[in-house]
Amino acid sequence: PASSMEELVSLCKRRGFIFQGSEIYGGLQGFYDYGPLGVELKNNIKAAWWRSNVYERDDMEGLDSSIIMHRMVLRHSGHEATFSDPMVDNKKNNKRYRLDHLVKDQKADVVARVAAEMGADPANFPAVVAALNASPAQASEALKAAGVRDPFSGEVGDWTEPKPFNMMFKTTIGPVADEDSYGYLRPETAQGIFTNFKNVVDSTSRRLPFGIAQIGKAFRNEITPRNFIFRVRELEQMEIEFFCVPGTDEGWHEHWLEKRLSWWEAQGVPRSRIEILDVPPEDLAHYSKRTYDLMYDYPTLGFEEIEGIANRSDYDLGSHTKSQSELNLVATVAENNDSIAKLTIPHPETNKPVVPFVIEPSAGVDRALLAVLSEAFTKETLDNGSERIVLKLRPHLAPIKVAVIPLARNREEITSVARAIKAELQGLGLGRVLYEDSGNIGKAYRRHDEVGTPYCVTVDFDTLGLGGGEGKTSDPALRDTVTVRDRDTLSQERVKISELAGWIREKLR
Ligand code: ATP
Repeated sequence: PASSMEELVSLCKRRGFIFQGSEIYGGLQGFYDYGPLGVELKNNIKAAWWRSNVYERDDMEGLDSSIIMHRMVLRHSGHEATFSDPMVDNKKNNKRYRLDHLVKDQKADVVARVAAEMGADPANFPAVVAALNASPAQASEALKAAGVRDPFSGEVGDWTEPKPFNMMFKTTIGPVADEDSYGYLRPETAQGIFTNFKNVVDSTSRRLPFGIAQIGKAFRNEITPRNFIFRVRELEQMEIEFFCVPGTDEGWHEHWLEKRLSWWEAQGVPRSRIEILDVPPEDLAHYSKRTYDLMYDYPTLGFEEIEGIANRSDYDLGSHTKSQSELNLVATVAENNDSIAKLTIPHPETNKPVVPFVIEPSAGVDRALLAVLSEAFTKETLDNGSERIVLKLRPHLAPIKVAVIPLARNREEITSVARAIKAELQGLGLGRVLYEDSGNIGKAYRRHDEVGTPYCVTVDFDTLGLGGGEGKTSDPALRDTVTVRDRDTLSQERVKISELAGWIREKLR
């Protein structure tokens, strides 16, 4: 794996995976653009997730719901009231920080002093943050007394009381910006699934248990976006809401934990690099019965959440349904007089209407891509003493599957064969095949190692039965063959052109 975030950031920029958003105007914090290779890698990750969670199961449906949603959706989901992070301002320079990030960034002795001021256990960081949140006035004094420094200026700050800051992006809908004509950019894809629950059930005749999967953008106005694509304001999520009969939820929760871990493994992110955090009851969101956070060991950052797998009980459908009082809901929900739909489904045994429980595996595409890149990143010292960087991506994730390289880019006999091979391999439907004539062969190999291309196919003079143009004779046995170079073993093999497609298909299966 990569040894630092720096290393990954630099590779991503150099080779065209990821760029800063709006860069030519100085950049916009928390927004990133995926370049020619980034878009391929991202699409491949999403396709692998969709294949595994929708196509390879018989109890799932897909969905693509809209990004801008009715404000009532986000009111009844609880986001208007509670989707906020506590923030503090430094009165000296008007900089604003997320409270937990600010404290985490301090030296250990400063954190210990904050903890002491708040009467919290310094070894239990969440408890320190919870104590600060619980008493804002005391928190402001504690941050000052402990000498908490401003990460921007490096000086001890004059800190305000922590205040909740709602992270949703609000936007005007229609030509008149009056009080009611606004909506929200969804902060998670999940709400589109809950609001379409009835549509999906009615149009597919699904019965419990079954799930709905969705991949899409979500938006969070993070106070302190940072750590490259780990914490961004425009993110992409891959979410499943799995609906089951109350009482069977705990079994399904374990099922999904297992499934998700094996999916990560298949993407080259082994279990040994993921810690399962069984979120302690006192840290659970109010609607969650139990949550497993999968924590991946990111370079430089250490263990941070890559996916959350939550048992959300009947909270979500219960919050969005009409006639709540008739439904024996387990979760505590706010009253809803706005919904026009009853979000129940017949119990598979009794046929009585029931509000199902929900298991939600929710993963971030950007955090997935960062983990996949980090695991694949390898620095090797070759036999000749030179060093190479190689991305050992699983072939199904590689942005470019095969690079077809004509040894001489100005010789029509060679380029026409190379172009024909490119077209044939492209037709296999494996993903992108690149016609590569941008430089000398050594440079091309180095570039394709760095971007994880599993195979490079070279068309040379021997392919045509020509002697290399320097009076060399050609081995007739090499006629109509190409050199195939393997990214991982560096072995070079001559393969007949007529057998190449089958050979590649077999290897990339
Ligand atoms: P965190 O505690 O790191 O802010 P969260 O608990 O708010 O994350 P969830 O609401 O559980 O995250 O979102 C589900 C998934 O979406 C996360 O596991 C993560 O992969 C992804 N995600 C959430 N927020 C961001 C973000 N700002 N940037 C990138 N990915 C994110």
